[in-house]
Amino acid sequence: MSENEFHHPLIIVGSGPAGLTAALYAARANLQPLVFTGMQLGGQVALTHIVENYPGFPEGIGGQELVDAFQKQAERFGARIEFDQVTAVDLSERPFKVTTYSGEYTADALILTTGANPRKLEVPGETEYVGRGVSYCGTCDGHFFQGKEVAVVGGGDSALEEGIFLTRYATKVTIIHRRDELRASKLLQQRAFNNPKIEFIWDTVVTEIIGQDGQVNKLRLKNVKSGQESDFPTEGIFIFIGHIPNTELFVGQLEMDEQGYLVVARFMQTSVPGVFAAGEVADSHFRQVITSAGMGAAAAMQAIHFLEEQNG
Ligand code: NAP
Repeated sequence: MSENEFHHPLIIVGSGPAGLTAALYAARANLQPLVFTGMQLGGQVALTHIVENYPGFPEGIGGQELVDAFQKQAERFGARIEFDQVTAVDLSERPFKVTTYSGEYTADALILTTGANPRKLEVPGETEYVGRGVSYCGTCDGHFFQGKEVAVVGGGDSALEEGIFLTRYATKVTIIHRRDELRASKLLQQRAFNNPKIEFIWDTVVTEIIGQDGQVNKLRLKNVKSGQESDFPTEGIFIFIGHIPNTELFVGQLEMDEQGYLVVARFMQTSVPGVFAAGEVADSHFRQVITSAGMGAAAAMQAIHFLEEQNG
């Protein structure tokens, strides 16, 4: 066990379903894991209105409610969950060094569950109007658009799921997609096509977000087939065009794939022994609460095994 308060057998970086499940498993092995939450306790699922595909909840469960339950369960067995952000890690030798806003820590093993963040369109006006018409979260910002018309960008599950959610508030949701075919699951496509408040603009990209008096009021659109440009009046644009893994802390220290996701072997092992990864930071494919939680459990079991081996 730790000899000083800054040393821990296991530190978990991130508090989404992967991190909190890893914390539960490690806590039940009496490791008293220390979890640094990052900016958002619970990660992306905390911002999800309802989760309908996590088994055990036949009627669905609120994203925040699920996170609260994960947290309580991990803490019940001795996990320590700290609202703190990791700013640097040094994985060059053991014990590994973890720097946060509050101080410097060391750990014999690490589980990295830093997740991913929404990808940006990177067009003029996007950054300027975040929170003033530009949003990456329907659950967070939908209610500001009660009785208004909004645009959604993207053609995947997120765009359709969030687009459907936004019809609770908006009178019309226009989904702008760069192709003429959706990437989203057939079930969501069917729901969106059947929703009278949803319309589609195909083969089109947003080239600029334009505002007036500090609020978005129109989008500049371009049809990628005809090249024709047009203005689309709207007060809200919700962008759901995929994610970027949060791996900046590990650049040059851990192996990553071409998209920047951490590469993990079958047993959740990264390229540095004793450093494990789980959830979306290491998974560009499944990205579900259940798969992230499963990866978190697996990473914790392997970390427990690793620490047992180290301690003879
Ligand atoms: P995604 O599947 O990667 O889809 C991203 C969408 O954005 C694609 O339609 C893509 O177009 C478009 N796009 C990407 N870059 C763009 C750009 N620069 N400009 C315009 N459009 C752009 O991402 P996601 O929808 O966030 O889903 C991520 C993963 O989570 C998926 O595996 C998905 O199945 C899963 N997910 C599941 C659920 C659920 O099961 N209920 C809900 C949400 C997410 P193209 O199609 O042309 O590439």
